Amino acid sequence: MKQFSTILFANDFSEGSDYAFDYALSLAKQYSAKLVLVHVINEPVDLRGFYVPHISFENLEKEIAAGAEKMMDTFCSDHLKEFAPYEKFVLSGIPYDEIVKKADECGADLIVMGTHGRKGMDHILFGSTAERVVRGARIPVMTVRLP
Ligand code: AMP
Repeated sequence: MKQFSTILFANDFSEGSDYAFDYALSLAKQYSAKLVLVHVINEPVDLRGFYVPHISFENLEKEIAAGAEKMMDTFCSDHLKEFAPYEKFVLSGIPYDEIVKKADECGADLIVMGTHGRKGMDHILFGSTAERVVRGARIPVMTVRLP
């Protein structure tokens, strides 16, 4: 029988991923699996100072990273009070790429994510993370649509 022992949950702190989280947590409990929560700070190449090298993005990047870490900590203390086996990661890069890489790295056997995430420019610029993860992942991906 197939078992899940490590479930990666892709968290962009949106309503859509919040909704998907309930599925990730239920499955983790049912299978006594570890939950690996991943948030990726979108890092488009053009914002790394390539075109305007005299502008330092260092402080801005640090603040963004600290803010993201804080959101992840709050999410975990709000949602995972009674669930111990979890790990959390805040990464930088292209979300689908980092999600697929982290799933490989931590030996995940399932990815759980929403079908829609945060709205705005990200989506226009980068398209659907869910679609790309489904295409790129070598393990099953559960995508959950917000009703
Ligand atoms: P999207 O394709 O951006 O509409 O997002 C679909 C789902 O992908 C979201 O509900 C999240 O589960 C996941 N996701 C999107 N962006 C990120 C991100 N930056 N970090 C982690 N997960 C993400």
